[in-house]
Amino acid sequence: MPKLALHWQVLIAIVLAVTFGATVKQYTTDAFTPGVWGVSYVSIFAFVGAIFLNALKMIIVPLITSSIIVGVAGIGSGGNIGALGWRTLLFYAVTTLAAILIGLIVINTVAPGYVDGEPAGAILALDAPPEDISEKIEGKGAGDVAELFKRMVPPNIVKAAAEGQMLGLIFFSILFGYFMTHLQHEDAEPLFKFWNGVFQVMMKMTELIMKFAPIGVFGLVAAVVVETGFAAARPLAVFALAVVAALLLHSVVTLPLLLRFIGRVKPFATMRAMSPALLTAFSTSSSSATLPVTMDTLEKKVGVSNEVSSFVLPLGATVNMNGTALYECAAAMFLAQAYGLELTFGVQFTIVTIALLTSIGVAGVPSASLVAIAIILTAVGLPVEAIGVLMVFDRVLDMCRTSVNIWGDACCATIIARLRGETTKVGIGEARRR
Ligand code: ASP
Repeated sequence: MPKLALHWQVLIAIVLAVTFGATVKQYTTDAFTPGVWGVSYVSIFAFVGAIFLNALKMIIVPLITSSIIVGVAGIGSGGNIGALGWRTLLFYAVTTLAAILIGLIVINTVAPGYVDGEPAGAILALDAPPEDISEKIEGKGAGDVAELFKRMVPPNIVKAAAEGQMLGLIFFSILFGYFMTHLQHEDAEPLFKFWNGVFQVMMKMTELIMKFAPIGVFGLVAAVVVETGFAAARPLAVFALAVVAALLLHSVVTLPLLLRFIGRVKPFATMRAMSPALLTAFSTSSSSATLPVTMDTLEKKVGVSNEVSSFVLPLGATVNMNGTALYECAAAMFLAQAYGLELTFGVQFTIVTIALLTSIGVAGVPSASLVAIAIILTAVGLPVEAIGVLMVFDRVLDMCRTSVNIWGDACCATIIARLRGETTKVGIGEARRR
């Protein structure tokens, strides 16, 4: 019997998890009702999910370090790190801004923060008079954003790695790889071989971990379903749907247009090829944890070179978060509407700018954007506690936005590979050469 492809296994696991989770939720009084031998189902699901997630996280630090060092040193020795670096950053900035603007337009159009024309604050149990809010608008936010960027240059690289501060680790690894290219050949070569060896081992470990993905994903998704269920107040449901619509718009319109016309590749064939990574992102809600799978899939299924993927993807997993940026903007706009804050150009501009900057610094872990949303809320003078109402749908929306984050990275890497003249498996007119 032919083996079922991994993405189908993962998809089936998600469907089973939703069905099973919903059944457990229906027949138990609360999430922690004892299930098997006195242990609640949710604990069992969470345990299985946690082991899978831990396994992925376990390899992040050596993977990021080795892939960036090897990537930068490899490209740097060819003398064109500049072109690749600038193209990558430009692409990241443009797509992130596009995502934010889509979020802004959709939330302005749908206006989920109003019910029958009135701010939904009361329904959502948000209470702070708008006058108090407006007074707080001045001069907030800049310091917090600066703090995020300070982490880019960590005083202690080992501590940064231990605490999962990926920006610091990335910055260090880029410098390390870059200066390796300034060494004498006999000094650089053993270093390169060492880091390349580490990288290869990490990729092998990824393949092993991914064999267990269906079981891990089942645990993660089932635990979410039992804990949060599907019920929620109407404005929140409308907000969640609006976010999903905006994320879809970005993923199936904006990014595919760039793939088609700049990358000259088939957008939906690329999406299909990337599906194992997109589904892993969906179930783990973590760009960092998904990184090993993203690299593996992009190289093997899409056919992007290791040179490009090992530079663009680790950077993108932290720096390029299209879905997160869109969500930050949408969430802040929704809460501003619900509080009845006047949405002047200034307020909207502040929200867009801070969403853009903070999405760069947000870590690729579940719910990380809540911190960034707190920064935006403070900047526009709304109480940070308002984040509480976002929690109802946060996990589900996190799953969606993380997939979009990964999709954005994959699109960028594919386009950059094509601009460098690479032949991929999804290029237009290349199908027969596969
Ligand atoms: N979970 C997201 C990620 O890892 C970050 C976020 O939006 O909270 O990409």
